Amino acid sequence: MKYVAALDVGGTFIKAALVSQNLEIVKTIALPTPKGDYFGVETSRAIGEVVEEFESLHKVNAVGFAVPGALDEAAGISRWAGNLGWKDLPIRDLVQKVVQRPVAFGHDVRSGAVAELRMGAARNFQHSIFISIGTGIAAALIIDGKIRNSDGFAGEIGHLNVGHDVECVCGLTGCLEAIASASAMSREYQKRTGSVISAKEILLRINTDDHACQVWEQAIAYLAVALEDLVTILAPEALVFGGGLSQAGAALINPLKAILEDRLTFQRKPQLLIAHYGANAGTIGCANMALDLLPKESV
Ligand SMILES: [Zn+2]
Repeated sequence: MKYVAALDVGGTFIKAALVSQNLEIVKTIALPTPKGDYFGVETSRAIGEVVEEFESLHKVNAVGFAVPGALDEAAGISRWAGNLGWKDLPIRDLVQKVVQRPVAFGHDVRSGAVAELRMGAARNFQHSIFISIGTGIAAALIIDGKIRNSDGFAGEIGHLNVGHDVECVCGLTGCLEAIASASAMSREYQKRTGSVISAKEILLRINTDDHACQVWEQAIAYLAVALEDLVTILAPEALVFGGGLSQAGAALINPLKAILEDRLTFQRKPQLLIAHYGANAGTIGCANMALDLLPKESV
């Protein structure tokens, strides 16, 4: 049996898993993403430590890791990742030097889409959009059965201007992720109440706490604005939600469905689905990418 290390490097956490060639998760580790790591040194070191820890259980044959932001996937470069503070960083080579194994590198959300398209909620559709809502918001565009990325620039829907005056990590105001991401919801709640709680906690309180309810409804309303644009432009058969906030399940899907039902007239109405792999879609996708590197006869 072969094993790979899969690491989804998010804006807040690195979610790692030791995964077998049968896609069984043997062990998971979550650790905070190093802050202010502008040269990627701490992040690649952290990835190396995780791989060594996995190696104590099973030989790690390859490593798959994914990061957010605009990438040059072929060259292994992060062109820009607002939530990590990276610009033109050759992160794949940095990680390769530390782990000394075959390395597959991709975009966090497109990796999630790989898992959902091969074996998850998007598998029965030719045209779908995988939307990840976590520290940031981004989408993977699946058109004609393929994940399209336009040289790694496509899908940054977190920076669609949905019309508000909150500042975004990209330096502009009005961006979707500055008002509707998990981190934005937490900031909005703090602005209204002075208390710092996570988006998960906000979600738990939506029936008992007016502020939590308002922050959630506001996020949903702005999300719906962006989704309406996406559906009108790309006509997906399904919208698949991943990332931490996908754990909201019906509390996310039902109000969005109701708004889109009102707003879409002639457009194809997509099914709204929660990712089969939930918040782990990115990690499973990284495992898929790493397994793709192993010689076929050994998998
Ligand atoms: Zn922005």
